[in-house]
Amino acid sequence: MILGKKESALDRVLGQVDSLDEINLANLVNKLARERAFLETIFNTSLEGILVITDGGVIEYANVASYKMIGLKDADVGESTLWRLIPGLRTSLGIEEEGRLESSVSSRELELTYPEHRYVRLYILPFEGDTELEEESAGEARFVVILSDITAEKQSSEESLESERVSSILLLAAGVAHELGNPLNSITIHLQLMERQLAKLEQSPQHDKLASSVEVCREEVTRLDGIIKNFLEAIRPQVPDFQTLDLYATLEESLEFQASELEDRGIQVEIDAGTETPIVRADKQQVKQVFFNVTKNAMEAMQPGGLIQVKIQSDEERFYLRFGDSGTGIGQEHLSQVFQPYHTTKEGGTGLGLMIVQRIMREHGGQVGIDSKEGVGTVVTLEFPKQNRKFRMLE
Ligand code: ADP
Ligand code: MG
Repeated sequence: MILGKKESALDRVLGQVDSLDEINLANLVNKLARERAFLETIFNTSLEGILVITDGGVIEYANVASYKMIGLKDADVGESTLWRLIPGLRTSLGIEEEGRLESSVSSRELELTYPEHRYVRLYILPFEGDTELEEESAGEARFVVILSDITAEKQSSEESLESERVSSILLLAAGVAHELGNPLNSITIHLQLMERQLAKLEQSPQHDKLASSVEVCREEVTRLDGIIKNFLEAIRPQVPDFQTLDLYATLEESLEFQASELEDRGIQVEIDAGTETPIVRADKQQVKQVFFNVTKNAMEAMQPGGLIQVKIQSDEERFYLRFGDSGTGIGQEHLSQVFQPYHTTKEGGTGLGLMIVQRIMREHGGQVGIDSKEGVGTVVTLEFPKQNRKFRMLE
């Protein structure tokens, strides 16, 4: 059923389609055609590109907006694959030559050069169709693809960082955040002193209560400190200091830094380094920040005993670092929000981690992709352009 959750008159007729005479059949076809025209009108008014593809990537339906966005022609529908029209997409999704899409939700940022130079955000969602129909088409699953033009967003986010008014407010906020660092430091030191004093009072009946209060204060101070650090990191668009960098070695360093937290949580990390050394031009500190944030999210999504698998792959133009976890996954309804500042599903989360990741990856001429399946896990793909590829900046 297409239009609503309740069974419509149309559905009832469709259920008896075998027993209809010619006239009623003609009526039915008419009704279906009208319903279809109605839906097409809705889809064609949308500014977002909407497509339906098979798990092999063949385009089965496309609305008007998507024709314009990816330069689709009538002859492509039912024939061409999305992979052919958007070069690089298949590799980015990690699908082999003849491979099929898995039933997860995906998000990517794409740079299109044809028919116009623009940036597009793409979502792929499995089609929640009729299970009977799915069985009939012998396992050919379908997917809805949504394309939104984000060229303006990318331009304005670059410009707005330069706009004077915004930057003066940010500067003020950054100043305040920075000032908070000193009293926090002082509180930390005094808490340490209190802990030392407490240790001497071990016999006292008050000891346990006091100790746990001090512990709570310590945790809260750490949390405040984290919020401030993240805030400062998020608003301060530092110009990357590009150097020649081995992403694999940097990843190992970054994981080293998180080793004790990984161990505490009982989480293993496996790295498949691939065949080609991933050398790029990048800012080491910023790349470490990216790895840190992505790994942290993977950890936080998993239970003890979880596994993070990092796979490094490459093609002619890019390196792909895929961070796969066996965690909770991301629901379809959250997928479009995960990069929004302050969007978090965690108690005590800042909701800034992925926004920072996205900003840094953009500044490196790369992007972040997400593929996720609720209850199964998430793969975050970091795409870095190879050193020899010229960055194509917006005019
Ligand atoms: P925070 O971690 O502070 O919540 P982030 O920006 O890092 O903020 O992430 C935003 C949200 O995206 C998280 O709250 C979570 O819902 C979701 N998310 C990110 N990474 C993962 C992951 N690996 N598995 C499941 N959910 C994730
Ligand atoms: Mg996070």
